[in-house]
Amino acid sequence: MVEKSDSDQQSVRVRFAPSPTGYLHIGGARTALYNWLWARKSGGVFILRIEDTDMERSTQDSVEEILEGLRWLGLDWDEGPYFQTQNLEKHKEAADKLLREGHAYRCFCSKEDLDNQRKEAESKKIAFMYDGRCRNLTPEQVQANIEKGMTSVVRFGVPRDAHSVVAFDDAVYGRIEKRARDIEDFVILRSDKSPLYILSNAVDDALDKITHVIRGADGLANTPKQILIYNALGIEPPIFAHMPLTLDNKKAKLSKRVHGEVVTISYYRRRGFLPWALCNFLALLGWSSPDGREFFSRDELIDIFDLSRINRHNSIFNYVSGDPKNWTDPKAIHFNATYVRSMSLNDLTPYVKNELKNNDLWSDCYESTEKEWFLNTIDLIRTRYHVITDFSTKGRFCFSDDFEFDPKAVIKNLYQDANLAKYLPELARGLNTLPVFDPEKIEGIFRDLAEKKQVKAGLIINASRTAVSGSSVGPGLFELLAILGKERVVKRLNQSVRLIENA
Ligand code: GLU
Repeated sequence: MVEKSDSDQQSVRVRFAPSPTGYLHIGGARTALYNWLWARKSGGVFILRIEDTDMERSTQDSVEEILEGLRWLGLDWDEGPYFQTQNLEKHKEAADKLLREGHAYRCFCSKEDLDNQRKEAESKKIAFMYDGRCRNLTPEQVQANIEKGMTSVVRFGVPRDAHSVVAFDDAVYGRIEKRARDIEDFVILRSDKSPLYILSNAVDDALDKITHVIRGADGLANTPKQILIYNALGIEPPIFAHMPLTLDNKKAKLSKRVHGEVVTISYYRRRGFLPWALCNFLALLGWSSPDGREFFSRDELIDIFDLSRINRHNSIFNYVSGDPKNWTDPKAIHFNATYVRSMSLNDLTPYVKNELKNNDLWSDCYESTEKEWFLNTIDLIRTRYHVITDFSTKGRFCFSDDFEFDPKAVIKNLYQDANLAKYLPELARGLNTLPVFDPEKIEGIFRDLAEKKQVKAGLIINASRTAVSGSSVGPGLFELLAILGKERVVKRLNQSVRLIENA
């Protein structure tokens, strides 16, 4: 057992301790984020510890998904990943020490005995709590039971003095006190000698010299028991900071089974989220800045984050199923869109490049001869985008001639007037004469044609938008045409005649 020295206590050591029994969940990622922020803010150490002692439910796939999710989010750890199973012997040693020193005892009660005790409590309508009947067995009785071949578990002997209280100051919830008489003598070692999670978790925190345990409020139920373990082992407990839970808008727990992939981090990656936008959103699920500001760069958030501003109310993840537009919490989408639209092009480009590459839309010239064109293009089209995937879907027409036409846009804008089959080629001819293809000159050609044909400019503008982009929405059309370039615009305007004639 490692005991803490004064110098160790000065440097912050925090950990994220996921159980690898599924995916990386939004709530888990937020726990990791808060720990990471606290480590980075205090110049401390962020440890990743995989709590894999539930052998039946832990999987390698889950470990990989957790690591990948953390890497993607940019939550880099300084130590680990440690695996809890590697320390099982140390957890047993701790249980032995507690047994030797009289803080724990062997309990020989069989499952039937306990079931009977439970039934009796139920019939009296009182909450069942193991009555501690094995606590006072003499060493001789214990020995005799062992010789008889009776199996036993090891239970922690909770102090039973009349007014004993387990108390701690939670960095979020403040002073928490629990009467020792309300705490059962809990099992720390099973009959097969495997340690219980509550013991392993506390012993690992001591071994890893954790100074702050920042975890979900669902851990609060364990904390008094773990403090008893620390006290009995003569180790100073870490500081606890329990974070309020994140619930759905009906105040139910978030789970993949009920809510689907929207609660998993990998989904946001696939749907085109920027990792920092997601972190920024997650940071606000349970924490707020003193002045109510919400958008922070990585360094700003590290600077301003403080455990004392984690609030005590559960936060709401506002997801409503069945709304394709708001496929996750609208605030998360708003955050991502804001980042997509306002971050520096330098920071945005690698994400766009990756997205285009994955969709066979990338060309190396976007980094050399066509770099300026490429940057101007993404800067223009991003003004209406929400996610990175928009660059390869909605923005496809900028990088390929093979793009889809939205049928609604075709009906609305191209079928609106049969004369468009003549106007658009005429427009193309006009545009083709321009020596400089800039928005102002382009607009001039549009206005002239509209006047000549005695139609509203909007008719030709809307039709052209659909002809060149397949859509009815987008950034300023004249800027867009200038970006697409004369050759492509002329070609697409002429090709649209076929579409109009098919109406
Ligand atoms: N393995 C636990 C979990 O995933 C961690 C609890 C803790 O942080 O102490 O819930």
